[in-house]
Amino acid sequence: MKFAHDYKQSLASQGFPPHWVAHAIPYGQLKKCLKKVQRELQELGLDAETLRALLDPNTDSPVALNYSLNPSSSSKLVRPKLTVNIHLHEGNIIDASLAPTTRHFFEKIASGFAPDSSESEGETKPVDISRAETSDEGTRATPQTVINGNGAGHEKHDIIEVPLVSDGVFFDILQSDLGGLDALQATERDQLKKEVKEIGKQVSQVSRPTRFSKSDLDHWRHIFELYLDAEVFFATHEQEHGARSSQKALQQLQWFQNQVQKQQLVASFKLAESRSAFSKFLELNLTLLKHLQFQELNMLAISKILKKFDKRTALGVSRAFPNAISSRKMISGDIAKEVCARISNELVSIIPQINDYLCPICYSIAYQPVRLGCQHVFCIRCIIKIQRRKEECCPLCRARVVMDASAENIDTELEKFMKKYFLPEVKEKQRANDIERGVEVFGEGYTRSECTVM
Ligand SMILES: [Zn+2]
Ligand SMILES: [Zn+2]
Repeated sequence: MKFAHDYKQSLASQGFPPHWVAHAIPYGQLKKCLKKVQRELQELGLDAETLRALLDPNTDSPVALNYSLNPSSSSKLVRPKLTVNIHLHEGNIIDASLAPTTRHFFEKIASGFAPDSSESEGETKPVDISRAETSDEGTRATPQTVINGNGAGHEKHDIIEVPLVSDGVFFDILQSDLGGLDALQATERDQLKKEVKEIGKQVSQVSRPTRFSKSDLDHWRHIFELYLDAEVFFATHEQEHGARSSQKALQQLQWFQNQVQKQQLVASFKLAESRSAFSKFLELNLTLLKHLQFQELNMLAISKILKKFDKRTALGVSRAFPNAISSRKMISGDIAKEVCARISNELVSIIPQINDYLCPICYSIAYQPVRLGCQHVFCIRCIIKIQRRKEECCPLCRARVVMDASAENIDTELEKFMKKYFLPEVKEKQRANDIERGVEVFGEGYTRSECTVM
């Protein structure tokens, strides 16, 4: 009762677009259907307690039940199937522990009769047309008789499918709604990917490195650095590796926004287009967050209804259902995951990040970049140092290429690129190199003094 209410409230109050809400898991409808499942089972004498006892694999009762959720071969949907394995002696079930209704029912279906349905609603009749069409199992309640070798015809071992209707309806509803959610996600995902592309175009316009016209390159680089640090939707460090909950994602997004504000990155944009691109970027992240919240809510509804199903029937669907559909992609991969990958591949990568241009030896920018024969790139100072030490092998791949390196190995294209995109880091590196060289020539006391014109 409480969850049904909360669920409705959350769907109505969290600002989800109406067409999403229309696709939400119909918890109330499923709950009603579950009542029918329970009633149907009870009429057969199969209340939760009896079912639990009969489904126990360790039971020594001659009547054993088996419930499975398997994909049917004719449709892509998972179908529930309850079978009973009965030992009969002279037409009677040998099990004194069964309640009279249960025993009566088993004897009836063992003798080939389907139970009478006292239900007036069409969908609870034992033979349901929609099921008959899609079921590839043939007519239900047909005993597959296995005559025991020593029974001389008097002892039989029957595997019979119990004719149930409502549980099939329940899983049909659930799966068709999951399918609907999936389709909705696919459309939304494509839309978001388009938006990423659009924002990308805008950002590359406003962040072109240029000497003569205005550019917000540094601002955007900084913004994206902060965004990567925030790891809004995915954590990559060890303690909390993996996808984030919507609550945590919201916190991270707020952190990012605060940092951007604190450092006045948006306020000091030179170009108005940068401001508009940034608000679109934020909007995109907020939409992703909404998706995450919506997905969590639907998953919660599914897990609640399956738990309720198990409480009332002991059929173990909380585990069986997710297992049965996991390979069928009914619950699609997180939309956040895919769109985030797009953001980092297509958007963040527009602005080169310094981390991709560091020398693997000294961890500062690899200026002036020396490309060894093995194609690994280091800064010139580090190469000079390892040549002096007569270390012949590339520190990354151990190829014997270090001693062959000369001024010709300086990658001039890359050098130009670094100057263009990372000018402050390049200047800093040059200064550090000068000091290092000065110390080599003049000894420890050397400090670099700028050439000043008196
Ligand atoms: Zn280096
Ligand atoms: Zn190498």
